[in-house]
Amino acid sequence: MESFAYSAPATRVIFGSGTRASLADEVRRLSCHRALLLSTAPQRGEADTLAADLGPLAAGVFAEATMHTPVDVTAKAVAQVRMLDADCVVAIGGGSATGLGKAIALHTDLPQIVLPTTYAGSEATSILGQTEGGRKTTLRSPKVQPEVIVYDVDLTLTLPPQQSAVSGLNAIAHAVEALYAHDRNPVTSLLAEEGIRRFAQALPRLIAASDDRSARSDALYAAWLCGCCLNAVSMGLHHKLCHTLGGMFDLPHAETHAVILPHAVAYNGPAAADAIQRIALALGATDASAGLFDLANRLGAPTSLAALGLKPSDIDRAAAAAAETPYPNPRPLSQPALRALLDDALCGVRPTLTPSVWETSHA
Ligand code: NAD
Repeated sequence: MESFAYSAPATRVIFGSGTRASLADEVRRLSCHRALLLSTAPQRGEADTLAADLGPLAAGVFAEATMHTPVDVTAKAVAQVRMLDADCVVAIGGGSATGLGKAIALHTDLPQIVLPTTYAGSEATSILGQTEGGRKTTLRSPKVQPEVIVYDVDLTLTLPPQQSAVSGLNAIAHAVEALYAHDRNPVTSLLAEEGIRRFAQALPRLIAASDDRSARSDALYAAWLCGCCLNAVSMGLHHKLCHTLGGMFDLPHAETHAVILPHAVAYNGPAAADAIQRIALALGATDASAGLFDLANRLGAPTSLAALGLKPSDIDRAAAAAAETPYPNPRPLSQPALRALLDDALCGVRPTLTPSVWETSHA
């Protein structure tokens, strides 16, 4: 008999094409009347359009959302909220716009509506990462969980193919680690497998034709499933490594996930047979780690840390930092083994699980 604990957040999710037309109804449903629209600078046009659609329900637009949610930007946005007397925030964009909405909610308790335009999955979580003085810290709080997510597939059609690929691989990483999380449960594992399966099929299609609405819809649905996984269970080696590398060497977020994932799976494979089997099945591959590497390669995503600017002389420092603070992970952390993982990732070696691992997992 399996024992488990599972909590589902009280988030309302609207999914489809053209769903952004329901935004005014959603604002009113929250009993709000003065929404502050949030976006990055490049997506200001989208935020302005939503504000125009909302008419008197829009209090203003703040288009300074920035990657990794710097606290000084949040302070400026909170001042804007107070000045405009806003009673809810509406974030349109990827993890950066969503992160700003969450940071505002942390300070003000205002309700949030998110219209995601990437596959990062932040909209589905109660996790907030913030940076101050070059240091990134992460917290979990029910205060930052968005109340409403409006998934409108039309908003993802403009996401460039390369960004779609790395954003999708970033999302797959949430599902992969959910399958071997120490606090996994059968519900999250179902979501994870389906998320990986949908992405593995949709991403090559949307790289071939970025306006393929059916592929876009599958990818966005998969992003939600993967975001739910990230929210429900603990992440392990892969996420900690990416966090370390991103923080120490300022590597790009989604690209770092794309490179590290096959190597993290190869590292954990010997200690996570069931997860390895489920990941391989979802990918339609024999070997889960090689399958993830091949998918990244096929999508034209980066497959080496060297391509992201990491130098061989950085590896020792990264391995030491990654082994420093213990956390639950299927295979114990060992600095020499982590160094070997990082060496392979630096050079873009195609990782493989030894046949004994996948034979056990396929038995
Ligand atoms: P992003 O939000 O920074 O977007 C990257 C760029 O792409 C931005 O300039 C954005 O304006 C643009 N863009 C986004 N969607 C577009 C579209 N459809 N068309 C054209 N341009 C578009 O990137 P991201 O990868 O979505 O988010 C990364 C951030 O999210 C990081 O700070 C990461 O730490 C955070 N994150 C947080 C969580 C969480 O649960 N807290 C989960 C995943 C990621």
